[in-house]
Amino acid sequence: MGIKKQLEFVKKKIAKCESEAGRHAGDVTLIAVSKTFDADHIRPALDAGHRVYGENRVQEAKGKWPELQRDFADVELHLIGPLQSNKAKEAVALFDVIHSVDRPKIARAIRLEMEKQNKHLQLFVQINIGNEPQKAGILEEEADDFIAFCRDDLSLPIKGLMCIPPFDEDPGPHFVTLAEIAKRNGLDQLSMGMSGDYDKAIAKGASHVRVGSAIFGQRDYPL
Ligand SMILES: *Cc1c(COP(=O)(O)O)cnc(C)c1O
Repeated sequence: MGIKKQLEFVKKKIAKCESEAGRHAGDVTLIAVSKTFDADHIRPALDAGHRVYGENRVQEAKGKWPELQRDFADVELHLIGPLQSNKAKEAVALFDVIHSVDRPKIARAIRLEMEKQNKHLQLFVQINIGNEPQKAGILEEEADDFIAFCRDDLSLPIKGLMCIPPFDEDPGPHFVTLAEIAKRNGLDQLSMGMSGDYDKAIAKGASHVRVGSAIFGQRDYPL
């Protein structure tokens, strides 16, 4: 199957999952994760009309998206990977949404750059939902305080929460936990679900699914 077919397949499956979960058609935003693929590999998805893309590295995204955006000006770019504060300037300039706000230092750096560049991004707080030592994200027990800090102290536009559940566990309970943290903090957007589990994530209330390999094929290296 080509990229266009695979994209159509994923979109159909999302529509089916929305309907099965009793949700409205179009409720779920598909972020096509194009990391590791070059501009030529992404173009078929753009030609097919898809406009929402995810990248996990600022530097890599900078190398391919400005060129693509000359032809497709209405692209919406999501940063889904960890951000270092020395890259905040470039990230705020290039991206429309950041899913990886996970510590005070990066929250402050994003705020400063949004002010400087007079650009308003949408932000998600990343939760380390399985409390995994090697993984990015704020710990579950620190989530409420950190969300309050971002919103009240920094006036950041936090729209929702993002998670990457542990690879070797059933993601369902983790999706439920993310939804609970969001609910008690008055947030209604949930960035959860990847190629292997976006159906389950939609059943548990995902507003954004981040799907890479099911659309673009296997990556040469597993970033
Ligand atoms: C790579 C990546 C994805 C997409 O993964 P697939 O399994 O290829 O769909 C989703 N979210 C994040 C944060 C990623 O880094």
